[in-house]
Order: sequence, then structure tokens, then C-alpha cells
Amino acid sequence: MCFYYQKLTSTIQTKQDKSDMATLTERPIYFTNSKGHKKERFSPQVPGEVKFYSCGPTVYGPIHVGNLRAALTADLIFRFFKKMGFKVTYVRNYTDIDDRIIGQMIQEKLTLEAITQKYITSVEQDYALALMEEPTHKTKVTDHLPEIVTMIEQILQHQHGYVTDEGEVFFSIDSFKSYGSLSNKPLDELQAGQRVEVNPKKRNPLDFSLWKPAKPGEPSWSSPWAKGRPGWHIECSAMACKWLGAQMDVHHGGVDLIFPHHENEIAQSEAATGAQPYAKVWLHNAFLNLSGEKMSKSLGNIVSARDFLAHYGGEVARMVMLSVHYRSSLDFNGEAVDHAVTALARIYEAKEKAEKLREKKISLPDPMAEQVWGGFLMECERTRSAIRDHYCNDLNTAGALSEFFTLTREWNRCLAHPNAENTSGAILAANEWIKVLEEEIGSVIGVGRARSETVLKKLEEIKVLRAENEGQKVMTEAEVSLLLEERKQVRLEKNFKRSDEIRDLLLAAGIEIKDSPQGTTWKRR
Ligand SMILES: [Zn+2]
Repeated sequence: MCFYYQKLTSTIQTKQDKSDMATLTERPIYFTNSKGHKKERFSPQVPGEVKFYSCGPTVYGPIHVGNLRAALTADLIFRFFKKMGFKVTYVRNYTDIDDRIIGQMIQEKLTLEAITQKYITSVEQDYALALMEEPTHKTKVTDHLPEIVTMIEQILQHQHGYVTDEGEVFFSIDSFKSYGSLSNKPLDELQAGQRVEVNPKKRNPLDFSLWKPAKPGEPSWSSPWAKGRPGWHIECSAMACKWLGAQMDVHHGGVDLIFPHHENEIAQSEAATGAQPYAKVWLHNAFLNLSGEKMSKSLGNIVSARDFLAHYGGEVARMVMLSVHYRSSLDFNGEAVDHAVTALARIYEAKEKAEKLREKKISLPDPMAEQVWGGFLMECERTRSAIRDHYCNDLNTAGALSEFFTLTREWNRCLAHPNAENTSGAILAANEWIKVLEEEIGSVIGVGRARSETVLKKLEEIKVLRAENEGQKVMTEAEVSLLLEERKQVRLEKNFKRSDEIRDLLLAAGIEIKDSPQGTTWKRR
């Protein structure tokens, strides 16, 4: 290895060691806080530590792709803080008691425990397929009844709630002056936007239930008021308080949870504990639109997360969901999925070349090529820092991916340089490019860490299936090889007319070919 390289790599290493230590958590981070709708500099309660809560699913059926977007946004936030060197306590809940769950119990003739366990297992299998990391604590409502009852008692003691003759407990929103601060709308507007049931027992139509008496045959727990079960909102407040304390740094959920769920969480927690703010930063991911329509189970246009993950795999799912900023609505359609497949193929085709180069032992001196790689190594270092800047700017994953694709184009351009592959600089560059991919993109966005061979094979299958679904005739590998063999022969015979015909024939079948001194390679478009 020449002196120039030794110097360059040791400089890069020192820089990385420095930035990966404690200084990383001091890098400025900005989030768009849903409360106040402003981009703010993030500062946790305890430097270097993050307390993070994300509202998890209600387990009464399989999740759809819209739920998957929220889950992957939570996973992104968790991975990001870990990458930036924070000690993260991440709590995600399962709502395992709810009207819809009771309905499903009756329909499937199963106990509450059996039905919720069935769908928790199903959700966790989906999350594993989507390559999501395990939270610090996964909590269930039914494990937190004592904490929920205690919190309701505190709310009542502080004069923020009232009990009806039937033993139903309501939160009184008129007692909580800043009610509506997260939604940032006047109360009459909030009321108009809600389908508020007429209930003469309520003092204000927007008052919400903290404890509901059970109807005959429903699952119930004892309480000072009536045998019954908690309202939906109180459960998140109680579980967050148990595992994170009265105040947390970041709270996440889908945008549909802002009102009333998160508005009510703030009111309950602050009324019970007196500590403000309940959460320093509120992050909400936008909707996932299916062919332009808002996704929700009630609309019936469900694409099950399992079907999608089983067919495309976790990396394609992550690429579709995380290549768009979490606050922008995401159009989930064939085109978006095709883009993700193509983008992932570009990453893994480049990785395949890098993996092969890394294994090469022989290298020839070539000052010209060495200079090319010297420039590339510096570009790797710049990209690493630029990607982190994008993440720190309100989790701009689209910006981070775009930086990485610029580096990948540079990687391919440098490789095309005469003799570049055979120099020691190429091996260093291959290592560095893979490190940027795995450490900066893989650790946070969660793509690029697998072996290229496995992923490229999977992507090839996806493309073949798509072509078949579209009614195209799909050329098999054997057919392509046969045509390429013929093309090699006619080119030796200088029959360029036939050679061009074969190229066109392959192109028409969606096969792109590329000639290089090492031979001809091909891929499906
Ligand atoms: Zn919640």
C-alpha cells in the first residue's frame, strides 16, 4: 500500500473514532414538534439519554400496510437515537382490551387472552419480517390495571374528573385550561370535527371516559367505581408514567392519533402528575394513501402487511416507507413499490461489486487509478457526515438516501476507470463504501446489510412475478443465456446486424445487457 493511502485511511479512522464517541450526542438535532408546529432544537431532559413512547396497535386482527408505516416510523426514531449515541428507553404498547377486541372474541369464540395473544404473535411476526428492532419495553394494558386505577384516582383528587351514578368516570376538559393545545384548534372546531355521541351524563360533549362499567358478559376488573375496564386514552398515560416517569422526551404516533388520543393523553397525565410538559416533542407520521384514498380498516381497502412482507420482503417495505419523509403523505401504489425495488437493486448491484473486490488479493500499481480512489475515499467521508446531517434535520431519510445514491454513482464511475479495479485503492474504496452503506444507511433506514447475492435473487423473483402478472412473456435465464451465447458467436463473425437484433430482442423482453472486458452481464429492468 502506498504512503498516500496509509495517511488518508488513518486520517479517516481518527475522524470516525472521534465523531462516534460522546460528541455524537452533542450534534444539533432538529424536529418538527407537532405541538406548536415548529422546527425546534432537541434537548433531552438528561443529556445523552432519550425516553421515547410510541402508541402501538390494538390487537383485534392482522395489521395493514398503513399500520406498518407508523410502526416503521417508530423503529426509525429508535434506530436514529441509538445511532447518534443516545441511551434510549423505548416503550411500545399493545392495546389488548377494547370494544373491537370484545367483538372479535365473540366472533372467533375465544377468550380475551387467547384472541389478543393470537394477534400479538401475528403483529410480532410482521414486525420481524419488516426487520424492526425490539423496544426496551413492550407493554400490555391488562398488565397495568393497578397503575391505571391509581392514575384515575389522582385525576379525581385533583378535581379534573367526575363519577356518574353508574360508576363511569369522565375527564372534565373544562377543568384543564390548555386542552386543545396539541391540536391547536378551538374547542368548538374540535367538537364539530368529532362524531360526539349524545350523552346526558357528560358535562361537556368532549369529556372522555377514563373508566367504563362493564356490560354483562364483558371482561372486567374491579375498581373503586364499578367493575369495568379503562378507557382507551388513560392506558397510554399510565403505561408511559410507569416505564418513563411523569415526563418523556419524545412521543410518537400516526397523525390520526393527534385528536383525541394524544390531546387526551396530555390532559390526563398533566392533570394526574402536575408535571409539564408530558412530552417534550411530539412526532406524527402522515397517512399512507392507497391509490389516493386514506387507508383505514373501516374503508375496506386493506392491503395486509403480511401479504406485502411475504411477497416483497422487509427491505422493500422499508425502502417504500422510509424513502419518503415521515411527515409527507405516502402514496402506496405499484409505481412506488417498483421504485423501491429498483433503488434496492441499485444498492445491491453496487454492493455485489464491492464484495467481490474486497476478496481480491492481487493489486497492481497504477498512479492514475490510485488518485481516482483517493478522491473517492474523501467523498465517502463527506457522505457519511452529510447523511447524519440529514437524519438530524427532522429525520430526513429521503435526503440521506439521495446522498448515498450520489456516492454510489461515483463508485460506479470510479470503477469504470481503466485498471481501477486492479489497484489496492479499489479494495480500500470497496471497504469504505460498504461501511457507509451498512453503518449509516443500514443502521437507521435498515436496508443494505444483507448479502448481495440473497437480495438480488429475491429482487429478480419479484421482477419476474410482476412481469407475469402484467401478462408479459417472461424470458427464462436459460433463454437469455442461449441468446447471449449466440450473440457472442455472431460478434466474433462480425455479424453486427444479428448482434443488434439479439440486443433488441432482449430489450423488448425487459432484459438489459452490458458489455465489459470481463464479458457480458445482464439484468431485468
Ligand atoms: Zn397511545
